[in-house]
Amino acid sequence: MTDLATRDALEVPRLDVAAVRADFPILARQVHGRPLVYLDNAATSQTPRQVIEVFDDYYGRYNANIHRGLHTLADEATAAYEGTRETVRAFLGAAETREIVFTRGTTEAINLVAGAWGRANLKAGDEVLISRLEHHSNIVPWQLLSRELGFAIKVIPVDERGVLDLDAYARLFTERTRLVAVNHVSNAFGTVNPVREMARIAHEHGARILVDGAQAAPHQRVDVRDIDADFYAFSGHKVYGPTGAGVLYGKASLLEAMPPWQGGGEMIATVSFEHETTFADIPHKFEAGTPAVAEVIALGAALRWVSGVGLEAIGAWEAQLLARATERVSRIDGLRILGTAPDKAGVLSFVVDGAHSQDIGLLIDQLGVAIRTGHHCAQPLLHHFGVDATCRASFAAYNTLEEVDLFAEALERVISMVR
Ligand code: PMP
Repeated sequence: MTDLATRDALEVPRLDVAAVRADFPILARQVHGRPLVYLDNAATSQTPRQVIEVFDDYYGRYNANIHRGLHTLADEATAAYEGTRETVRAFLGAAETREIVFTRGTTEAINLVAGAWGRANLKAGDEVLISRLEHHSNIVPWQLLSRELGFAIKVIPVDERGVLDLDAYARLFTERTRLVAVNHVSNAFGTVNPVREMARIAHEHGARILVDGAQAAPHQRVDVRDIDADFYAFSGHKVYGPTGAGVLYGKASLLEAMPPWQGGGEMIATVSFEHETTFADIPHKFEAGTPAVAEVIALGAALRWVSGVGLEAIGAWEAQLLARATERVSRIDGLRILGTAPDKAGVLSFVVDGAHSQDIGLLIDQLGVAIRTGHHCAQPLLHHFGVDATCRASFAAYNTLEEVDLFAEALERVISMVR
């Protein structure tokens, strides 16, 4: 099996892992005297120097507030910021740059849709469908709004592999279903959801669909027009970019019809005490206040980096890493993998009989291996599977098969210590 994984890896020559790793200064560091094996990529991926350098360049050369200034620095900052909008448009396959709204991340993007679209379009008696696989950030904004407006939230069930039940999904629709909010890839289990098919079914019933792409954007090519997503959200820090910058894609017609979400500078056309205040055109209507200028510019550098390596190559390589890791940990006595969908991104969630996930996480860190333990902000999913926490290893373009082996060996050692 190991040989098979290695051979398959050799059949994906497009990703040069050594070259990829050379872009990440952090990968050279040691943790507790051992080389870092970073397998917490679903929480935050590491940052290549092409992204890190943006901050030096921006603050050293052209730091300025954007849009309003007439001076050279403001012009340069505005051009770089707006240039990222075009990079994101191309990255998502969107039709127009005005469909790209910058946010702090996925959480803020979903809150924007809830606060602006949801508040204007949902009322008592309406229904919103979300899935059992959702991250809290695609659950709680709808719960908060539903308390206020009185619409119902219905949950799309999963089977024992962590795969959404599409027949049950189709049966949940009624004439009051207004919105489906679903992730593209589950952060807890790695399940890849058939969002294109789900969008088709939602649209057949006259409902809108919001896709949380936080875990998809780093691993596969996303085409919002092919999916026919009404809204699509992702975070910079999970796609080799900085924290503090993320994206909401929305179809222009929807964004145009939505009221503003936050009020302030940048999002207005005219402000008056005598007449109605009027608002800027999209996307600026949704970008109140000074945005995270450097972070957005750095997000552009991250997306160019990812596209340069190639998402197909990254996805194929991560599939090799996942296959190797799955095979290695499956040999461990009493270890149970949660999330065994046939279509899975590079996430391996597991529990071990007689060993607390937290103990495993703490002890494996002593061996230089960073994994995540806990509920992964997906408590309804974990509770459904009868656990409070799992250990999760998640992979990125710079991980190697050797690191997977180091992880598996460290895990075996740690388990023998705690049992
Ligand atoms: N959705 C999913 C599927 C996620 O994995 C995460 C981050 N763990 C989020 C949403 C929230 O992303 P952020 O914290 O960057 O807003």
